[in-house]
Amino acid sequence: MRRERRLIVTATSLVLGALACGAVWLWVGVYLGTRLARRPAADAPALEAQHVQHWVGELSQWTTTFHHEMAHYREEIEGLAEQANDIRGADETPRASVVLELLSQILSANQRLKQRLEGAETRLNRQSEELQEYLSEARTDGLTRLPNRRAMDEELSRRLAEWKRYRAPFSVAILDIDHFKHVNDRYGHVVGDRVLHDVAVAIRTTMRDADLVARFGGEEFVIIMPATTELAASRAVERAREAVTNVAVTVDGCVEIRPTVSCGAAQVRDGEDAASLLQRADAALYSSKFGGRNQTHWHDGVRCVMIDRLTHATPATDAAPCIVA
Ligand code: GH3
Ligand code: MG
Ligand code: MG
Repeated sequence: MRRERRLIVTATSLVLGALACGAVWLWVGVYLGTRLARRPAADAPALEAQHVQHWVGELSQWTTTFHHEMAHYREEIEGLAEQANDIRGADETPRASVVLELLSQILSANQRLKQRLEGAETRLNRQSEELQEYLSEARTDGLTRLPNRRAMDEELSRRLAEWKRYRAPFSVAILDIDHFKHVNDRYGHVVGDRVLHDVAVAIRTTMRDADLVARFGGEEFVIIMPATTELAASRAVERAREAVTNVAVTVDGCVEIRPTVSCGAAQVRDGEDAASLLQRADAALYSSKFGGRNQTHWHDGVRCVMIDRLTHATPATDAAPCIVA
């Protein structure tokens, strides 16, 4: 009698365990589906929205299938429970052999459900990896493999929010390849692309891991330097500029292209938004172009100062004029 009760308790735990496990998976599916459905922001391009919609559709299909699987499983178990009722003996006590038979059927049903769940888990993991890959690709520039403009915009918004909330300062710099049109015109776009790529590598390897180096568009790059104020930021940008002067792209085994970049940098100020901060860095960049290229200017909030003058504390009256683009 005790043995039978133990068997019934075991059977019940197995069923409840499987149902609970199923409910968790169903919840995971619904949760991911809901999260992904929120992904496409208002400004997300149609292509990304389309991809996300595809994944949401797949997930929704998966949860529906899973729901049916669980319903099927419940039916199987209910059928077994009915059989258990029918086989009660005259003394209302189920016979051990029959209970054992039912228990074995429950175990098989659990095994089948487990296999289906494992299959679903593998599929879900694969889709999640694909989605991660797609989202990361959507924020990467294909030519230089640097984060693209969109990734840069997102990082800038994050840093600005931190600045407003925690007063965590940061600096930005814009770097623009000098006379790049000439490279394209003279050697062609394929060579131009190689120059762009090598300049990107030189800038990226010079900066800290914590800094975001992004391709801003065309032959321009942006660096976002968290926890970096005037002196450290201007030195870092100067190092990047110097690193670019070491880039040499060979054409047809003999001609060597030696690119240079002009740079403009600024530190975030009170009440500033992304557009105003980038505009100040851009004004500093134009001062560098105007000053002869292959140099860096810092926008101090009022005027643009050439970096080597800034680091050697030259009076501000020597500063180059600020040219607003
Ligand atoms: P400056 O020194 O004043 O910056 O002159 P610049 O010639 O570098 O600037 P300009 O804006 O006149 O020309 C930029 C060129 O960059 C024009 C455009 O065709 C080229 N460009 C933009 N994106 C790419 C790209 O992905 N690959 C190649 N090869 N060229 C590009
Ligand atoms: Mg440019
Ligand atoms: Mg240029």
